[in-house]
Amino acid sequence: MKKLALALLAFLAVQPVLMAADPITLTLYSSRKAHLIEPVLELYTKQTGVRFNLHTGKPGPILERLAAAGKNGGADILLTVDAGNLWHAAERGLLVPVDSEALVQSVPAALRDPENRWFGLSKRARTLAYNTEKISPDDLSSYEDLADPKWKGRLCLRTSKKVYNQSLVATLIAHHGEEVTEETVKGWVANLAAEPFSNDTKALQAVAMGQCDVTIVNTYYYGRLMRKEPDLKLALFWPNQDSQGVHVNISGGGLLALSKHPQEAQAFLEWLAQPEAQGLFAELNLEYPVRKDIPPAPEVQAWGEFQGDSLNLAEAGRLQAEAVRLMDRAGYR
Ligand code: FE
Repeated sequence: MKKLALALLAFLAVQPVLMAADPITLTLYSSRKAHLIEPVLELYTKQTGVRFNLHTGKPGPILERLAAAGKNGGADILLTVDAGNLWHAAERGLLVPVDSEALVQSVPAALRDPENRWFGLSKRARTLAYNTEKISPDDLSSYEDLADPKWKGRLCLRTSKKVYNQSLVATLIAHHGEEVTEETVKGWVANLAAEPFSNDTKALQAVAMGQCDVTIVNTYYYGRLMRKEPDLKLALFWPNQDSQGVHVNISGGGLLALSKHPQEAQAFLEWLAQPEAQGLFAELNLEYPVRKDIPPAPEVQAWGEFQGDSLNLAEAGRLQAEAVRLMDRAGYR
C-alpha cells in the first residue's frame, strides 16, 4: 500500500512536468538548403523541445504551394532568400505582421519590412569579383562603371532571371531612376564577354579562367568556391563606397498567415535574431549576421569591411517588376 502511495505521489509530481514539456511541432518552409538550416533547428529543439517539420524547395514553388494550401495546410514559418521573394510572399498575403520588440531591436530597419511581415536573419552582399592577374582593384569603382565601354568584352554576369539581379537592378532604379538605370544595364549587356551564366559560381569560374575580368556575385558563393579552390586568382571588391554602398540583401523569414501556432512561431523567429543563433545561422552559409553586435566568421571577416546600401529592402520588392521589364528592354537575358 505504501509502495502504491509513493508511486502515486511520484506520478503526481512528474505529471505537470510532462504536460509542460508537451512538445509542439512547427512546420517550416525553407528555400535555404536543409544542411544550412538543420543545425540551427536542432539547437532550438535541444533548448526548447519544439520540433520542426521542415520542407525545403525553390522559392517560387514554395510560395505557390503555400498560396494553394488551405487553412488545414498547417504551415507556420517561411524562411527564404532575397527580400524580393519575401516581399512577394507578403504581397500575396501569405505573411502576417509580427508585433515584436525583440525583432525590431535586433534587425536593422533597412533589413526588415516596414509593416513587420518579414525580417532579415542573415545578410549577404552582392558585390564585384575580379581576376587578380588581369586587373587591379584600382580599375574598379562601381556597378554603374561596369557599363563603361572600357569594359567591352570583359564582363561576365549571371542571368537576369535570378531574383538576386532583379533586386540589384531594382535598387539601382530606386537610386538613379529608370532612365539612367536602363543605360547602365544596356552598357553591361554591351560589355559581356559571354552569354549570362546560370549561376554565380559559373560566373566566378569564368573570371578565374580569364574568360572575363569581373563579375557580380553574392559573397557566400565566392567563399564556397575559395574554400574548395583557394588558389584561384579571384578577389572581392566593394563597389560604390563613395555613393550608395554595396547592394546588401538578406535571407529572412516571416510568420505564415496559415499558422496554428503563431506564438511559438514568433518565439522561434525572435530566437533566430538572438546572438547565439545569429552567429550559427550566418556562419553555416558564410553570411553576415544582421545584428551589428555579432561579428561574422573569421573567414568572412577576412574579406574586409564595407559600406552597405542603407535603402530599405522593401524597395527591391516594390521595384522588381519594373526591373524585370527594364532588363528585358536592355536585352539582358
Ligand atoms: Fe544563393
